[in-house]
Amino acid sequence: MASALTDKLSRLVKEMRGQARITESNVQDMLREVRMALLEADVALPVVRDFIARVKDKALGQEVLGSLKPGQALVGIVHRELAATMGEGVSDLNLATQPPAVILMAGLQGAGKTTTTAKLAKHLIEKRKKKVLTVSGDVYRPAAIEQLKTVTRQAGAEWFPSSPEQKPLEIARAALDYAKKHYFDVLLVDTAGRLAIDEALMQEIKELHAALQPVETLFVVDAMQGQDAINTARAFKEALPLTGIVLTKLDGDARGGAALSVRQITGAPIKFAGVSEKIDGLEVFDAERHAGRVLG
Ligand code: GDP
Repeated sequence: MASALTDKLSRLVKEMRGQARITESNVQDMLREVRMALLEADVALPVVRDFIARVKDKALGQEVLGSLKPGQALVGIVHRELAATMGEGVSDLNLATQPPAVILMAGLQGAGKTTTTAKLAKHLIEKRKKKVLTVSGDVYRPAAIEQLKTVTRQAGAEWFPSSPEQKPLEIARAALDYAKKHYFDVLLVDTAGRLAIDEALMQEIKELHAALQPVETLFVVDAMQGQDAINTARAFKEALPLTGIVLTKLDGDARGGAALSVRQITGAPIKFAGVSEKIDGLEVFDAERHAGRVLG
């Protein structure tokens, strides 16, 4: 499938055909197209700038200027740099700790935390043969607790009850205690989310983190959030030592530029991608493949 970016670049290459050699200004033209493609894919502006600067260094080297097909050579560099920026090979969940391994889910409301919690439970049960407990610390929305109960059942994991009358810390400690007593391998802790960043919520999740000492703190982010993802990512990175990212709703229209922004801002690896509302709609994140998507 020919991509929009590749189309534009090949047009430029054709225009340059009559010229004796490729110049720095030709490369600049090509980089301008790359920049547009990234912005159209919703990569945040500062991240685009940074990325283009890095690609430019490489592109002005022999690999492009000395190439017979400079357009293709440049696309190759962009693709490789994108993949390298977004990933470092496959990275599954880290469970290397005294069980139960606690996994804390963080993110805005609607990002897909509850759904992803159940998807991860299923992944851990089926792929890693773990005994998994889930618990919800979302005491502000009773419906969220019920939702986790339902999807946990679908995943075939066990759900630890909680209620709006309790404090999140109290719930978390009780669940951890139960998980220890009943020899669970993993405890997945779903947390409350707001529609926007909120100080009280950040404080609450920091306290949960301190009490639970999770081996994984996953930032769940909606790929459709596009440009806004950068602010959300920054706020969560400042509050918590994130160990991984789950990028949800990649089955939607989003070109997935959020992946690049969020990866760069948090420094944490993207571990999984959500690709449907269904419980089995979770894939190990593949940076190579995603680079192709971002490029169009
Ligand atoms: P939370 O508020 O962060 O817990 O978000 P939820 O788990 O309740 O998800 C919010 C909405 O997004 C629900 O309608 C989910 O079905 C949907 N959702 C979550 N992950 C995905 C995904 O990967 N793909 C699609 N299409 N929908 C998703």
